[in-house]
Amino acid sequence: MYALDMPSNDGVKESGPSLAGAGSVLRLIRNGEAVTRAELSRRTGLARSTVAQRVDALIAHQLVYEAGGSASTGGRPPTVLAFNDGAGVVLVADLGATHSRLAVSDLAATPLAEVASDMDIGEGPEHVLGWVEEQFSALLEEAGKSTADVRGIGLGVPGPVQFSTGQAVNPPIMPGWDGFSIPNWFAGSYDVPVFVDNDVNIMALGEHWTHWRDTDHLLFVKVGTGIGCGIVADRAIHRGAQGAAGDIGHIRVGGHDDVICRCGNTGCLESVAGGRALARRLSEIGLDASNSRDVVRLARSGDPRAVRMVREAGRSLGEVLAASVNFFNPAVIVIGGDLGELYEQLLAGVREVTFMRSLPLATRDLRSVPSKLGDRAGIVGAAIMVIEDILAPAAVDRVLQGGVAA
Ligand SMILES: [Zn+2]
Repeated sequence: MYALDMPSNDGVKESGPSLAGAGSVLRLIRNGEAVTRAELSRRTGLARSTVAQRVDALIAHQLVYEAGGSASTGGRPPTVLAFNDGAGVVLVADLGATHSRLAVSDLAATPLAEVASDMDIGEGPEHVLGWVEEQFSALLEEAGKSTADVRGIGLGVPGPVQFSTGQAVNPPIMPGWDGFSIPNWFAGSYDVPVFVDNDVNIMALGEHWTHWRDTDHLLFVKVGTGIGCGIVADRAIHRGAQGAAGDIGHIRVGGHDDVICRCGNTGCLESVAGGRALARRLSEIGLDASNSRDVVRLARSGDPRAVRMVREAGRSLGEVLAASVNFFNPAVIVIGGDLGELYEQLLAGVREVTFMRSLPLATRDLRSVPSKLGDRAGIVGAAIMVIEDILAPAAVDRVLQGGVAA
């Protein structure tokens, strides 16, 4: 037990509670904002002796280590503190409709061992999660870690999720999953927090955290079999009242009233520009295409019919994004998913329409870019979802005050 709230006896008044705890000190070290005891004291307004106590507590729990001297100052160099991203691991899974990627990641969201595999989400929760659990065990072994090292579990699923309970809500392509408690499934094997979110949300989180952390407002558009959008508003995921925010795949686009969507409506973006729709239209004109990856292969090989179709899809996507840009005013639109690999063709269409149709103020500094994390965006984001929760200042303070090893 550490006496974290012991008043300092050197008369320096402490700042407000937001920067008072060891958890806040850890955050400053993790973000690289203050990495010596003197910097931490300046930054938090805490007395040097108080900072020293908190750093000692973090070191005792192996969350922080002394990384050596700083070369930047004269005299005896102050010791530089670093976050110990090896203080545990998180288990993560990005479950798509037909394929999945799973990993064991360190506490900096770097995968230590990972596997990608075909898997049908429609097999139902028991079958799929049983398989996920087997994969987690194998990955832990591969990474040289054990169940005791696991600090949390994060999953993305291809449907709306009630984030607070980790339950899928009326997921159209996940038969048997409605209301199923995913966290309860893992409770028997792992005594750690389990977080579940929509797959596009974790991709948005991964991309934002890794490459756009200083950007307040961002849209991440996944163009795969279907089409969805993750919304980062004020640097946080915006899920909406029912976890269905960003479901742009079922917004209607003009000129396609003859196309019936799987949701029952006509002219939905997904039924016009999604990977499944494009593959079907390409196969109708005699090309060998049954899924979004085939569309990518054909367009990459330079087949003019596939290239033209992807550009048209980009324009349909641009029509919906133009409205989204006027409505939400993002600084950045990231295009990801299987078809995101065709970003040159896709973005050409998207840019053409968004810049024509959006208000000039909204597009003045707007950037549309391909995903940099590619098919790893989901597992990186799933790890961040877990890590940001278990290393939140209040959570760290609880662990340290409870004397439980982090
Ligand atoms: Zn629809």
